[in-house]
Amino acid sequence: RPRVLSGIQPTAGSFHLGNYLGAVRQWVAVQESHDAFYAVVDLHAMTIPKDPAELRHNSRMAAAQLLAAGLDPERCTLFLQSHVPEHTQLSWIVECLTGFGEAARMTQFKDKSAKQGTDHTSVGLFTYPALMVADILVYRAHQVPVGEDQRQHLELTRTLAERFNGRYGATFPVPEAHIPKETAKIYDLQDPGVKMSKSASTPKGIIELLDEPKTTAKKIKSAVTDTDTVIRFDQDKKPGISNLLTIHSTLTGAGIQELEDKYAGKGYGALKTDLAEIVTDWVTPFRTRTQEFMDDPASLDGILLDGAEKARSVASDTLRDVYDKVGFVPGRR
Ligand code: ATP
Ligand code: MG
Repeated sequence: RPRVLSGIQPTAGSFHLGNYLGAVRQWVAVQESHDAFYAVVDLHAMTIPKDPAELRHNSRMAAAQLLAAGLDPERCTLFLQSHVPEHTQLSWIVECLTGFGEAARMTQFKDKSAKQGTDHTSVGLFTYPALMVADILVYRAHQVPVGEDQRQHLELTRTLAERFNGRYGATFPVPEAHIPKETAKIYDLQDPGVKMSKSASTPKGIIELLDEPKTTAKKIKSAVTDTDTVIRFDQDKKPGISNLLTIHSTLTGAGIQELEDKYAGKGYGALKTDLAEIVTDWVTPFRTRTQEFMDDPASLDGILLDGAEKARSVASDTLRDVYDKVGFVPGRR
């Protein structure tokens, strides 16, 4: 079974529908066919200042939501990044392998630092890609399920894996992007030209999975559409309706053509009413399961500690091999 590594940041309490339909749902499928390692990347979340109590809470919430969505600790390895020190240990080696200019070309850093100004930008935000490279290489992952926004960091991972192998001998598989079919990109309900995002969307534009069902229904019903009346998929001319059709189709499995036929002659209201019901029917048991995990923090932490132990057994092997290859004198084990 090919090995995969993927991570999600605990930047907000609730995941949004884009996180689920664009990433987490695939993780659930991938655990059946792959040797899957999934991390709540709390170290990455530190690149932007965080309140300690909130970070701790959000990390547990992220894990609870992943379990509620269907990750099974018997089928995959789920852990918190900070529980596996080998990530940061390998990340130093990766930093020393990365050119300064090479890191400075990363568009995520350029975008985020331009928004914040250099005085408010941490060195951690700059070295973030090196830590991400280490996250992947420390498991010698073959594939990485990533969204479009992470493509450049994956390219860097491939470059650095090859560089390490070239300099020190074959050590890492060069990981491929794993872009599962059925991956949907979900757009902001109020501004359907841009993606739904934890950090950029307004409350009305984002469907948070842990919202009250009433709130979810209201947000869907007030989604921005267009002045036309035909329910048809057209990303450029009708981004709002297209987004609603995508959400409907990915949650129900109905084809877009099938939905266009079903709603022929009906108004936008009918589509929105049905969709509000579909989303709340899905989200309601998800919220209950998340709450059950949050109500039992001892078992939740237990699952994460077991996951970290499995992760460390792989990561420490890799790190030992790397330390040996780069020329460190063996330490005591
Ligand atoms: P931020 O705005 O803080 O970057 P985010 O909403 O992009 O947050 P991430 O934690 O960066 O969320 O992403 C987690 C996963 O969800 C990634 O695999 C990412 O590609 C995916 N994802 C995020 N937003 C969407 C979206 N609107 N549609 C589809 N997939 C998405
Ligand atoms: Mg993001």
